[in-house]
Amino acid sequence: MIRVEHIGIAVKDLKQVNALYRKLFDRPAYKSEKVESEQVETSFFEIGGTKIEFLEASGQDSAIARFIEKKGEGIHHLAFEVDDLIAEMSRLRAEGFQLINDEPKRGADNKLVCFIHPRSTQGVLVELCQEIKES
Ligand code: ZN
Repeated sequence: MIRVEHIGIAVKDLKQVNALYRKLFDRPAYKSEKVESEQVETSFFEIGGTKIEFLEASGQDSAIARFIEKKGEGIHHLAFEVDDLIAEMSRLRAEGFQLINDEPKRGADNKLVCFIHPRSTQGVLVELCQEIKES
């Protein structure tokens, strides 16, 4: 793993959160994006090279909707950048970690992603992400 790429935070109202965090960070979100496959709307802020990703559910089946229902708003996942997602997935699988995704999938912010179940990481949902390089 290379570094913490971003911190994901589950919220109920992205608009309100964008306004609030704009004041906190004294800068606006630099990007907003809808991820259909995950049924989420996202917005991103950047502080010193670390991104904060806010996620609002855009459908009832969204994992974010279920998360908020169970735990309320707050930190949802930590994302770590990797060089080679496939290699890292098989390394972690061999180490006994329970991966939520069998294969990398497309996430927000031009990334391939895979999640590790919080059951195998002391309650922390971990996202592995690799930048998609345009060829
Ligand atoms: Zn994320």
